[in-house]
Amino acid sequence: MSYKAELVAVLGQPVAENPTGVMQEAAFAASGLNWRYLNLEVPPEQLANAVTGMRALGFKGFNLTIPHKVAVIPHLDALSMEAQLIGAVNTVRCENGRLIGENTDGKGFLRALRQDAGIDPAGKRVALLGAGGAARAIAAEMLLAGAAGLTVLNRGVERGQSMVEHLKQAASGDIGFIPWEGTFLVPSDADILVNATSVGLYPRGNAMPDISLAAAKQDLLVADVVFNPPVTALLKLARDRALPVLDGLSMLVYQGVIGFELWTGRQAPEVVMKSALRRALGVATA
Ligand code: NDP
Repeated sequence: MSYKAELVAVLGQPVAENPTGVMQEAAFAASGLNWRYLNLEVPPEQLANAVTGMRALGFKGFNLTIPHKVAVIPHLDALSMEAQLIGAVNTVRCENGRLIGENTDGKGFLRALRQDAGIDPAGKRVALLGAGGAARAIAAEMLLAGAAGLTVLNRGVERGQSMVEHLKQAASGDIGFIPWEGTFLVPSDADILVNATSVGLYPRGNAMPDISLAAAKQDLLVADVVFNPPVTALLKLARDRALPVLDGLSMLVYQGVIGFELWTGRQAPEVVMKSALRRALGVATA
């Protein structure tokens, strides 16, 4: 019998409402692991000390959230190829004392797409709204998974352009940028539309990205990264048009599933994690 607990955490500011720990702790309990997941509030000026502390205390790994996803990079020992391409880290695993930075946001989206929406992005054309951290992670994984085309729309032109230039250097495929001015008519050759902006996020849950689905093909998959509320105005519009949808909760669950697997080396109890998260967020279990 050992009373020693293994530790993982999320470092951010704020962290009080971050729900990842709920599903990780449910997964640890269901897997019989004496592990704990802590939400740790770390201001930017303490990030370096906090990472040193993680090493000293033998944490198995940790998540990063706002504002640390980019700032943590110089404090790590190595980055995965995907984290390098994305330029941000949301998950760190400790391997023989070395801290390896990963990014599971895009991978979580990819897994949600395959497992919950039943769509493989290989050969598909993707229209992606946004050029922030979530958008960069999704774009990288879509291209690595063989998407035939990626069109990025962003309000801020410089941010969108530099994201696309960066992707073009690292990946092949038909990659383009459109400045987002006025209503974006989703083209009829798009197979997947992803809202990777924060438009629609609580407390402005009724906000809707300025797009039109008038020309969309009948089986366009409409995905949203926003998970609070889980059914956004965009997803409601898509449902009204009988289009398939994928909500941001799926992505959130699978980034946690991948984190659990990286840290523990075990298969994650996905159903347990999904229902723990839905319960915590007050969403009826699907
Ligand atoms: P960032 O701040 O890095 O990027 C925000 C993006 O939203 C930018 O492209 C920004 O455009 C755009 N945006 C914000 N407001 C508007 C607006 N009014 N009109 C048009 N575009 C707008 O944020 P993140 O990428 O980290 O997060 C984006 C969303 O993804 C959040 O809602 C977050 O909760 C969610 N998320 C979900 C995850 C999940 O697992 N489901 C994981 C990670 C994030 P501009 O450059 O012009 O400012």
